[in-house]
Amino acid sequence: MATTLSNFIGTPPHPGPVTVVSSVLTQVFETDGSFVAPANGGYFDSPNPSDGSVNARVPDSDKRDVDAAAEAASRAFVGWSKTTRAERSTILLRIADLLEARIDEFAAAESKDQGKPLSLAKEVDIPRACHNFRFFATYILHMEDKKTEMDGVSLNFVQKYPVGVAGLISPWNLPLYLATWKLAPAIASGCTCILKPSEFTSVTCWMLCDIFNQAGLPRGVVNMVFGLGPKAGAALVEHPDVKLISFTGGSATGEIIYKSCAPRFKKMSLELGGKNANIIFADADFDKCLATTMASSFRNQGEICLCGSRIFVERSIYSKFLAAFKQKTEQLVVGHPSDPSTQVGALISKAHLDKVMGYVKLAQQEGGVVESGGNLVTNVVNGSGGYYMRPTILTGLTSTSRCAQEEIFGPVVVVIPFDTEAEVLEFANSTQYGLSASLWTTDLNRAIRISSSLEVGTVWVNQWMVRDLNLPFGGSKASGIGREGVPYSFDFFCDERAVMIAL
Ligand code: NAD
Repeated sequence: MATTLSNFIGTPPHPGPVTVVSSVLTQVFETDGSFVAPANGGYFDSPNPSDGSVNARVPDSDKRDVDAAAEAASRAFVGWSKTTRAERSTILLRIADLLEARIDEFAAAESKDQGKPLSLAKEVDIPRACHNFRFFATYILHMEDKKTEMDGVSLNFVQKYPVGVAGLISPWNLPLYLATWKLAPAIASGCTCILKPSEFTSVTCWMLCDIFNQAGLPRGVVNMVFGLGPKAGAALVEHPDVKLISFTGGSATGEIIYKSCAPRFKKMSLELGGKNANIIFADADFDKCLATTMASSFRNQGEICLCGSRIFVERSIYSKFLAAFKQKTEQLVVGHPSDPSTQVGALISKAHLDKVMGYVKLAQQEGGVVESGGNLVTNVVNGSGGYYMRPTILTGLTSTSRCAQEEIFGPVVVVIPFDTEAEVLEFANSTQYGLSASLWTTDLNRAIRISSSLEVGTVWVNQWMVRDLNLPFGGSKASGIGREGVPYSFDFFCDERAVMIAL
């Protein structure tokens, strides 16, 4: 049976306050945000990618729902922005504990909603969501504010203060992982917020609302409005009381949001698409590189913005690499997300599967060779009607071909040989994107030389997807504007005021 979701808005459904005093907070707050139907009463079906059945009925929210959420968030900001860091930290830690206690339930829901292997949701997605809350909860206890003294003239200090109501918009590939990567720093910094998760994957965010209530998060601090991007999402971006927008999604959507925010002078953080290079030199540790490249190519069905979808291999090991890579790719198990042996699950939607398969056709039209995969998988047990395809390797394409330039965002990689450092740098930097790159070499000088010339926000050397939340995360060029992490997320959700006292 499909679950019917509801918006989560901090206004009481009926007039008359219901006041609960949280045991953590020194102020009196109304807790227990309300689950409410969308103003227009409309819902749309969100499919289960593993079999095409209806998984959830999602509120088709519009401007009226965003207005209600903005009113609730603005009201809550008055009190929440004045809570102490210790108070906020305690609540965030409680959220993390409550979520961790339900990892199995959340992982099952995430896998069902998104199509990713259950094992991945259990090992990566939900644990990382818990970590997001803990990481920002503990950071705020140790933040130091800047102070200076001007030789007996003036004593100066910087006050960091939350900007106001934040609009958070997240994508479908890592639903709870990325939504909490925004939610946690937003509320840790004292902002209140309205989250609009992707219309394809709303379920785990909706489940999290229950945890917010249990953790004693005051009503209206987090609000969620579910629905479509151009309707609910656009209303959120345009709302005059929403002072800042943190968006993760495609570059085309990022452009629309950028244009909408500019005349309103809203603060913006845009984490956008990628077409990441995986650069393999002949002196690399071959086995480690091969194993990691399997993951960087096909983990989460290749639906990770950081996947390395362009693989450049030094010509002297090109044939050896391609043969080994093909062999391992052909061994990958594509299957039902809940099957423990599954390594590659279902793609997010039929439309996305069609788009990804379209690139396989395009590669052939561009003179490319399908070395492995390129076909749908229709024999998945209990998953007929699901959106499955074999992991696909393309060769015979140039670095300027569309398959090597455009973000495919599925289990499809292009492998291209190179001869010199200069050539591979030109290949790697030739796209409009600049999110990340992986570099494989045992020559330290070369690692430093090439890393310094890559036009990307993250370079991994002899590894992939290792995340330290203390480092700046974000993209260059069409991959985004701004950085997330510590202290970057706080710089975004807070403004700074310089106070200067005459001595
Ligand atoms: P998308 O841009 O289609 O949607 C992202 C979110 O924006 C969704 O919640 C959607 O409803 C909303 N949206 C769509 N149109 C909108 C509008 N006009 N106004 C406001 N909101 C709108 O992206 P997607 O298909 O959900 O996600 C895949 C993309 O996200 C890929 O390009 C991927 O690379 C990127 N991504 C980037 C990162 C990163 O950290 N850089 C991480 C994950 C995914």
